[in-house]
Amino acid sequence: MNRLTLSGSPKSLYSAKCFNRLPIVVMLDSVKPAALSFNKTETILGARVRSSVLWGRGPVWSKIRAWGVRGPGFKSPRPHQESDLHIIFEGRKHMSNEIRKDYLLNRWVIIASERAKRPTDFPHRPQEKIDTESCPFCPGNEQMTPPAVLLYLPSDGGIRKEKDADGDRAQNWLVRCFSNLYPALSPRKPISLARNGLHERMDGVGAHEVLVESPRHDEHLGLGKREQTLLVVHAYIDRLKALSRWEYVCIFRNHGKEAGASLSHAHSQIIATPMVPSLISDELTACTTQTKEGDKCPYCRIIESERNTPRFIYENPSFIALAPWASVYPFEFWLLPKRHQHTLLQLREKEKRDLAQAINDCMSSLANVLSAPPYSFGFHISPSRGRHEYYHWHLEVYPKLTIQAGFENNTGMFINVAPPELAAESLRESIEEAKKKI
Ligand SMILES: [Zn+2]
Ligand SMILES: [Zn+2]
Ligand SMILES: [Zn+2]
Repeated sequence: MNRLTLSGSPKSLYSAKCFNRLPIVVMLDSVKPAALSFNKTETILGARVRSSVLWGRGPVWSKIRAWGVRGPGFKSPRPHQESDLHIIFEGRKHMSNEIRKDYLLNRWVIIASERAKRPTDFPHRPQEKIDTESCPFCPGNEQMTPPAVLLYLPSDGGIRKEKDADGDRAQNWLVRCFSNLYPALSPRKPISLARNGLHERMDGVGAHEVLVESPRHDEHLGLGKREQTLLVVHAYIDRLKALSRWEYVCIFRNHGKEAGASLSHAHSQIIATPMVPSLISDELTACTTQTKEGDKCPYCRIIESERNTPRFIYENPSFIALAPWASVYPFEFWLLPKRHQHTLLQLREKEKRDLAQAINDCMSSLANVLSAPPYSFGFHISPSRGRHEYYHWHLEVYPKLTIQAGFENNTGMFINVAPPELAAESLRESIEEAKKKI
């Protein structure tokens, strides 16, 4: 990334490099909010600069954006007069591509800044038509699905948990969970392992469930009430407990046809597997190794360090969201609990509420910024058996805006056309805007 760095107070800065009218991003590092005076259009650096301070608390970074920069080159900045301001100019024209490595995994991503895309560069998708009469997940159509293994029913101002009796289908539910009609894995068969030369196999045992998040067809996470999202969080935890006899329980959500959702009704899925998937096992190994070598948990370190970078998106008392350094997908972001914990089962009541709030805030921001894009998300939690106190659970959100093809399939490397810093900026701005409206 091509950067020009100056120091000084806002008023002591002189004209800077000519960016030929290209939009530039100016970041103010280590700024005391009181020192910021860029709240209106003004002339600095020999250029007309319209700016807005979007975020800033304590000695943290903030930024302004400049448009229409012009001028005959730049004079040298004055020697530091005030050292509390550190300005970085990033011209998009000058950003070069980088190959970044994941924090923990041996996974490399080409961050294609030279063809960096803004949210509006991604094609707008028409809304899918909703047919609630034929939707098997809509109220009234419960007979089209297997009996519920978990129902949340309203009861005396609270919630009652039930199951469907055989042949019966309860009505008036708020959340409904049942076995997938076409399961990828099913709990009926006994486990048997076999190996024959190159070919290793085991029976397709496990569980595959659908969790209908709301009786309202289009009450997708982030688009409805926080209370409903909180019910979904509780239901995730209930099913995680119930399925913990399997080695690993993957709770995930596909949204939109491009992300693999065959039905558009708001729902998540849960697949319990008889082995620990390799991605989780790689993260787990990295956490265990680094912690045993005397380092802090790598995810705790990520939270601590990325909070003060342009990849920061959001935080509430218990959760933080950020765009990871080596994001594989455009606008990918992660949601992490601030308190070190390895599974959703360790969440305290207050943290559950904060998780619901964080999911709502971040998912609605994604929907706003990219016009309700297709995406998938998944919880990365510790395996059910054994001690995994070194692991730090998190939620990874992958918008589906580009198609992975030959290069990715043949190398395991990825190309991301939305640098995480730019993605985080858009998501962060949208959350800030939403807060102002409340
Ligand atoms: Zn429906
Ligand atoms: Zn941790
Ligand atoms: Zn992960």
